[in-house]
Amino acid sequence: MRTVYVNGVYLPENQAQISIFDRGFLFADAVYEVTAVLGGKLLDFEAHMARLKRSMRELDMTLPYADEDLLAIHKALVEKNDLEEGLVYLQLTRGAADRDFDFSEMTGEPGIVLFTQAKPLIASTLAQRGQKIILADDLRWGRSDIKTVQLLYSSLMKTRAKKAGADDVWLCRDGKITEGSSNNAYIVTENNEIITRELSNDILHGITRSAVLKVAKLHQMKVIERAFTIEELKSAKEAFSTSASGFVNPVVDVDGLAIGDGVPGAVSSTLREAYLTESRRTAI
Ligand code: PLP
Repeated sequence: MRTVYVNGVYLPENQAQISIFDRGFLFADAVYEVTAVLGGKLLDFEAHMARLKRSMRELDMTLPYADEDLLAIHKALVEKNDLEEGLVYLQLTRGAADRDFDFSEMTGEPGIVLFTQAKPLIASTLAQRGQKIILADDLRWGRSDIKTVQLLYSSLMKTRAKKAGADDVWLCRDGKITEGSSNNAYIVTENNEIITRELSNDILHGITRSAVLKVAKLHQMKVIERAFTIEELKSAKEAFSTSASGFVNPVVDVDGLAIGDGVPGAVSSTLREAYLTESRRTAI
């Protein structure tokens, strides 16, 4: 049984409790981060904590923990759960109060929950065979840059994708791809240019996105940050997604149409390896 962390206490998962009045539960009034663990070490930890603070600021929440405290809790959970490979999930909620849309009268500190998930990340079938994706309208709220637990639309669409025999869904607005259900989206053109949507309120500012774009530039690859159309995707040489839990994952099929040769491409394979080398080097 896992050991989890809830509001200052480490305890077995079946003893962990939060209030039914918690606003994370009632209003999806909570933010989260997911940090990958390889060889018992955390990847891109500081960047995840910086984004957490930004998400909280955008929602008028304050983080009552220093980065060192959060790092210590992450490390303690990795150790207590003998986690070699997998994820640490962290959620901060505005806390519990009698149900009311207005939270301005709330006092007290946000609630905090962390748990680990053991999972093979390196030996990924998706990375080996490539993902099949379907497209759907992006009907999420207008602040997808804030990493809130308000994930119902993406969860619903991902489930539909799975039911349709695909692996994931990419979301589209005005004929252009915004991002995947839980990852950022890219294409590679015939000229080997990597194109991914520019940062805005429309997409999550992926930590892996930022690390992968840095690595791509180090490898002299051309990166263009702009939205790409569904037609550009369908005629791309390669496509791939990035996320903390998937690293870099090739896309080989969109709505039943093969992308490029219909097998994982050279650019996404190179980037996956280069990203993994770099993030292992800087893991803590
Ligand atoms: N976009 C969305 C909607 C996500 O949920 C995620 C990760 O959960 C990402 C992109 C990728 O972000 P990161 O690389 O920080 O995991």
